[in-house]
Amino acid sequence: MQRRYFDHNATSPPSPAAMTAFVDASREVFGNASSVHRDGQMARQRLESARRSIAGRVGRGPKELVFTGGGTESNNLAVLGVVRAVKAGRRHVVTSRIEHPAVLAACAVLEREGVEIGYARPNSAGVIEPDEVRALLRPETVLVSVMHANNETGVIQPVAEIARAARETGARMHSDGVQLGGRLPVDLEALGVDLYAIGGHKFGGPKGVGALYVRDGVEIEPLLVGGRHERSRRAGTENVPGAAAMAAAFEEFDWTSLAPLRNRLATALGAMPGVSINGAGAERLPNTVNATFEGVDGEAMVIALDLRGFAVSSGSACSSGAVEPSHVLLAMGLSPANARSSVRFSLGPGTSEQDVDALAEAATVAFAHLLRLSPTYA
Ligand SMILES: *Cc1c(COP(=O)(O)O)cnc(C)c1O
Repeated sequence: MQRRYFDHNATSPPSPAAMTAFVDASREVFGNASSVHRDGQMARQRLESARRSIAGRVGRGPKELVFTGGGTESNNLAVLGVVRAVKAGRRHVVTSRIEHPAVLAACAVLEREGVEIGYARPNSAGVIEPDEVRALLRPETVLVSVMHANNETGVIQPVAEIARAARETGARMHSDGVQLGGRLPVDLEALGVDLYAIGGHKFGGPKGVGALYVRDGVEIEPLLVGGRHERSRRAGTENVPGAAAMAAAFEEFDWTSLAPLRNRLATALGAMPGVSINGAGAERLPNTVNATFEGVDGEAMVIALDLRGFAVSSGSACSSGAVEPSHVLLAMGLSPANARSSVRFSLGPGTSEQDVDALAEAATVAFAHLLRLSPTYA
């Protein structure tokens, strides 16, 4: 059976250019980028060229880019690093209820360290409105962390306006850009953020590598200590093949052209009675459709579609065997039942119109079938 992949927000396959860059760097420049000899210097050059390339594309300088072990680490480093670098006074952070666990769990660690956290709520379309953030800001707020695009709904947040509000109170602004950076053009100067996280495997780069933009002059306490790699912001021998491959993918992609396919899928699904599209009223990533199939279990839809050859995901997280409804959809005001009935479809560079039509057809059949099995079916 043909497999059709609609889970690019979980991970996207590495692009041919990224794989070539990875293999070439592994073979040609295997030296330790911190070694003084020629083999080390060749690795260093490959690493710095990757750094220049990514930094240039987001409109910033190479010294401001820290390579990390992925999106989670980039976000942990931003949230924990900024707050821990502040020695006295400011012990308050503002974030949102729809953040990725990489940010929420870091905030929970800070709470245990005595930092107070304010959580901004999204509106029903999944948008964190700047006024909602403004209302939570205090003179002692040290950091504001609001994601650029949500991984479940694809909703793009008004980060520039939130950053302006943060700056007015003297707080630093971080944004989790893991779903947007490398997929759509990003101008960090225009966005006005102090920190910005990206992760290689969400845009055609390899897993296990990411980057954090840290504006010149912003102090961060490292998470990993040891050598003085990455300007003493992240110890450990540099992952040169990973950085080179991530840079190759970053140069390559613009997912803007997926919007018509995304619209085609949303229209087909939304036309079914009992189906609604979450975040439909907001600006969204051009690849994401999150739909509620009222009356059926999202996990059951995922399994039914998997059996028909489609990889999709339910918004819910499976922790310790129990399926929890999505914290993002609950925060948007969906009932627990409707949150549990939701499925995320995320497209990528290889997705075709044929794939979308086949998915819409399969989802229609699976939904009707599961509804008939459901105990509430009348
Ligand atoms: C995937 C993801 C992360 C985590 O990135 P990893 O590279 O998988 O650690 C963080 N934030 C968002 C929004 C994500 O989608």
